[in-house]
Amino acid sequence: MRSMVRGTTVVADTFATMSIFTRIIRGEIPCHRILENELVIAFLDVNPLSPGHALVVPKEEREQLHQLSQASASALGAALPRVAAAILRSTGATAYNVLQNNGAMAHQAVMHVHFHVIPRFEDGRGLGLAWKASPLDAASGAALAKRIAAELDPA
Ligand code: 5GP
Repeated sequence: MRSMVRGTTVVADTFATMSIFTRIIRGEIPCHRILENELVIAFLDVNPLSPGHALVVPKEEREQLHQLSQASASALGAALPRVAAAILRSTGATAYNVLQNNGAMAHQAVMHVHFHVIPRFEDGRGLGLAWKASPLDAASGAALAKRIAAELDPA
């Protein structure tokens, strides 16, 4: 009896933490698939910003980009240009944005790594951007780049 209760708890926990994209990868819910291989799947976003808006997703279950294995990162890198080129050819778009959100504060809603490929059209359909930049001063830029470089994991 006790083990049954434990078993039920484990299943419930697994289900609770499983993202919608894991369920798509497992074939439990449908998607409009564009590409699939051993490590990556790409499919149309269910709520697109423009026609052709697609998501490129590693099968590895990780929330944020920096948590991915080298193998998944490489496979994503290989898939993204192929998917982008196919979207351009099939939609007639000539411009696009690649967006990748990490963390709720950065607008991530599905906690499973994914890249958006979003075609941009003359009429404004696509990704709207508010880019509030300010100039980087040379001294703090040099210090910051050095600090970040010192934190790099080995390639
Ligand atoms: P985020 O804000 O996390 O970067 O974006 C998540 C994206 O996933 C959204 O653009 C949303 O429309 C898309 N999405 C959420 N649930 C589903 C789904 O069940 N199927 C598909 N194809 N896309 C989804």
